[in-house]
Amino acid sequence: MAHVVVLGAGLGGVVMAYEMKDQLRPGDKLTVITKDPKYHFVPSNPWIPVRWRQREDIQIDLAPTFAKRGIDFKPVAAKKVHPEANKVELVDGSEVAYDFLIIATGPELAFDEIEGLGPNGNTQSICHIDHAEQAAAAFDEFCKDPKPIIIGAVQGASCFGPAYEFTFIIDTELRRRKIRDKVPMTFVTAEPYIGHLGLDGVGDTKGLLESEMREHHIKWLTSSRVKKVEPGKMFVEEVAEDGSVRATHELPFGFSMMLPPFRGIEAVRGVEGLVNPRGFILVDKHQCNPKYRNVFSVGVCVAIPPMGPTPVPCGVPKTGFMIESMVTATALNIGQILRGGESSHEATWNAVCLADFGDSGVAFVAQPQIPPRNVNWSSSGKWVHAAKIGFEKYFIRKMRRGESEPFYEKAMLDFLGIGKLKKTT
Ligand code: FAD
Repeated sequence: MAHVVVLGAGLGGVVMAYEMKDQLRPGDKLTVITKDPKYHFVPSNPWIPVRWRQREDIQIDLAPTFAKRGIDFKPVAAKKVHPEANKVELVDGSEVAYDFLIIATGPELAFDEIEGLGPNGNTQSICHIDHAEQAAAAFDEFCKDPKPIIIGAVQGASCFGPAYEFTFIIDTELRRRKIRDKVPMTFVTAEPYIGHLGLDGVGDTKGLLESEMREHHIKWLTSSRVKKVEPGKMFVEEVAEDGSVRATHELPFGFSMMLPPFRGIEAVRGVEGLVNPRGFILVDKHQCNPKYRNVFSVGVCVAIPPMGPTPVPCGVPKTGFMIESMVTATALNIGQILRGGESSHEATWNAVCLADFGDSGVAFVAQPQIPPRNVNWSSSGKWVHAAKIGFEKYFIRKMRRGESEPFYEKAMLDFLGIGKLKKTT
């Protein structure tokens, strides 16, 4: 009998556990190890600082859900993964041995790579519920004495959609509070153009997002590198095509949220053959590590090369539908190996996204992720805002019930009316 361990219980890890459970043989054991006993639905985080959502609205208590599905649960952080010895060392000094390990530990947020960046420095974050709550307190204070706002994504970030979402959500909230006229807003991004999204654009995201920015009086700086952040002041360099500095800016602000660079978590960084130099897990087309053949990985912690060279480094985002496709392929592949077969399933890695703008939004589908594409579609409108709320409720309800199918797939296909997107081949 085999022991399968899922490390990390975020969006990827929770869905992974449910889908893996369906593929096990009678007698096989499944354990989930994670840092936090409660899961928070990260895509709703941009609504926390404006208090459109509270922590409890997006929280899932994992212990009872996993117990109901017969999944062992260990809410203790991993200290080090030892793939040579097939075990995970935990921070409480204990160890968990495995036959198969699925790493779903998401990103470590590398605020320390830029002086003054992050919630322990001078900018806010929406990447974690604790950060988003801190940002809510900061935003309340800010509204008493409005000043300029800077929102964006720094060099090396591999997540851009939430920065756009948060910009327009803040814009909507400021208009509702009738103080938008007192707040100059600037979007600062490593992307070479607005709407690049780390994907070289999808459909007309360039046109759609630039137009939204203009309509909402939001200025922008692209190909930008944040040098450091002091209290109330951000130092930014605009970089030209040849890598030279085209312009420098000292931007004042009263509130700022910048998405940080991501790297792999400490428990895997530096493990030879398991990770790339940034600590992201190396996988083949079957989500399996090329050196350690009983180690698989899904989600943001997976190594994906950038789309192409850009003047300022931009990573490729890993969005929910894409993560789900990695999960399904992994569950099916391990199921095949357990039954004496070989992995044959590949994730489609399609990028599908609903970006909420507070009272409207932009949706896109990129299939495949790298251009030229078979589906290269984007659209905007009030329907996206409604679809995102419906999708959030649907997803959280499914996660609370411990239901494995369908997650993003059904929600997306229903909302977008696109019936042919497959998760695996
Ligand atoms: P995570 O959800 O970050 O989960 C990682 C898990 O690993 C966590 O449970 C963590 O506690 C655990 N962990 C970390 N370190 C350890 C350790 N040492 N030991 C044990 N466990 C550990 N995508 C979309 O498709 N649509 C959206 O609307 C969307 N919105 C987003 C909004 C924001 C603000 C962000 C940051 C991303 C968004 N994404 C969205 C992208 C993506 O879907 C999410 O980032 C998603 O949460 C990634 O899932 P994951 O499982 O890879 O990582």
